[in-house]
Amino acid sequence: MQMKIIAGNWKMNGSVSMLQKFYEKLADVKTNNKIIICPPFTLLNMGTNSPKNLDLGAQDCSINENGAFTGDISAAMIAETGAKYVIVGHSERRIYHNETNEMVAKKASIAAANGLIPIICIGETADDKKAGRTLDVINAQIKTSVPAELSDFIIAYEPVWAIGTGIIPTSEEIESVHTHIAALIPAPILYGGSVNSNNAGQIMSIKNVSGVLIGGASLKLDDFLSIIKSTDN
Ligand code: PEP
Repeated sequence: MQMKIIAGNWKMNGSVSMLQKFYEKLADVKTNNKIIICPPFTLLNMGTNSPKNLDLGAQDCSINENGAFTGDISAAMIAETGAKYVIVGHSERRIYHNETNEMVAKKASIAAANGLIPIICIGETADDKKAGRTLDVINAQIKTSVPAELSDFIIAYEPVWAIGTGIIPTSEEIESVHTHIAALIPAPILYGGSVNSNNAGQIMSIKNVSGVLIGGASLKLDDFLSIIKSTDN
């Protein structure tokens, strides 16, 4: 199997000692895959000691460059830690923080301008899917969340109904959406939503799936390692 991108989104979980334990184990892992961990902002400074095969990313960045925005973290600050990636437009940001496609596009632009690779999340809700609107939603999100001038970025297709639910689309559904996205934009396309050590190998063998974005299973070291190794078969 060709090189895959395996990214963990730790959300509001993790600690210095947890990341340290991941470093110790990952240092021994031989893989051609690109491994990314997106821990909370407070751990990003640990990127300077990460094993060679691992890069850190942030889970969000401010829409603003700098200034009076209490609590925000800018893309420049993230880049200064040595982090290489930033997730933008995760459905939890869109839902709990009312982030719109336009805001996501602005964050992706600021991230790229500061040397970060944005991982832009898109995906339909359960209602969209039931109404047969999946591809319309994807088209609109790509049109308005992905800035036209962007050249180095990653798309994460994350059906909202699959995140943290244990329910995943069929392989045919994943292939059809990924193939649709691939025809629209030239970028690696990750699948995200209830990926675990049992289904990761199969999901990553689907056409136009460049890797996975993992939430819950990325917090369990053994599961994360087994997902990394699942492409070796
Ligand atoms: C996510 O939140 O990006 C995600 C994919 O979560 P989970 O793997 O837990 O479904």
